Amino acid sequence: SIKLCGGGGQSEYHPDMGAGLRDQAELLQELRLAAERQQFKLMYQPKIDARSLQVTAAEALLRWHHPKRGMVPPSVFIPLAERHGLIGQIGQWVIEEACRQAQQWRTRGLRMRVAVNLSGYQLRQDDIVERIEGLLRQHRIPPERFTCEITESVAMEDTQVTRRAFERLRDAGVHVSIDDFGTGYSSLASLRRLPAAELKIDRAFVCDLEGSSDAQSIVQAIVQMAHTMGLRVVAEGVETPAQRDALVAMGCDELQGYLFAKPMSPQALELWATDDRPTEAPPFRASLFEE
Ligand code: C2E
Ligand code: MG
Ligand code: MG
Ligand code: MG
Repeated sequence: SIKLCGGGGQSEYHPDMGAGLRDQAELLQELRLAAERQQFKLMYQPKIDARSLQVTAAEALLRWHHPKRGMVPPSVFIPLAERHGLIGQIGQWVIEEACRQAQQWRTRGLRMRVAVNLSGYQLRQDDIVERIEGLLRQHRIPPERFTCEITESVAMEDTQVTRRAFERLRDAGVHVSIDDFGTGYSSLASLRRLPAAELKIDRAFVCDLEGSSDAQSIVQAIVQMAHTMGLRVVAEGVETPAQRDALVAMGCDELQGYLFAKPMSPQALELWATDDRPTEAPPFRASLFEE
């Protein structure tokens, strides 16, 4: 069968699909209300150690369950929130909620890292590091148990500002992860100047692994380069055993993707993480996973 890389075949809501400007304006208005009323939820997708298959981290992924439209994906509402100045408020809530959840998990004996995605706007906030430090202290979370994922393209946007933010996060002990790596065409030299702890290989490369020997060489080179720079390497979007095997063979440190688990509610993740888990999600657990 032919496999489509890059999200083909998924039916999702897109504001530019059939709906016009009026719908956009309406969506924005509803997003404002949702931000005020905090009608968001976080789902968590585990990262697992490539060798032991133990959970190493849980990445918080924002969800907006719209009363009429259903699930509006972050790829639709986050750009909207960024364009209209709502991402600061929403992003702050994400960090707070992830810290609160991390603390709750810790009291229940789960000690994995928690990761949040930061937008460029947040990274440019003068007090972003103080905000994060304050919340970590408040919830008694060791900073090195907290990861900020920042996409490669955001990291390369304004290299002066991002480098300072990365340095201050590192000095605070927080781990920085360069997300969606490989899509931003950054040079090795510019990457070397950023004090990150982790690099996530974009799922487009992972998806191409099976068919393309180019993709294999690229991923192999990324892993080697990242290890040379002392970075931990995570592969995102792992969907098949063949991809998993290739990534393990190439020395990837951690894996994340539907093969192991989809984003889940905190309760479902807790069950999943404490379960005696085989290498793939058993079907009877499927109901716990996100649609
Ligand atoms: P991301 O941080 O790169 O997250 C990975 C995305 O890929 C998630 O989509 C996840 O559900 C999806 N995914 C995970 N494993 C697989 C897989 O095996 N196959 C496929 N096809 N997809 C997989 P999601 O949750 O829709 O998020 C999309 C993007 O929205 C995220 O990409 C991130 O950039 C952004 N985002 C999500 N939550 C937040 C947030 O709280 N703040 C900010 N600023 N951005 C966020
Ligand atoms: Mg991410
Ligand atoms: Mg990513
Ligand atoms: Mg991605």
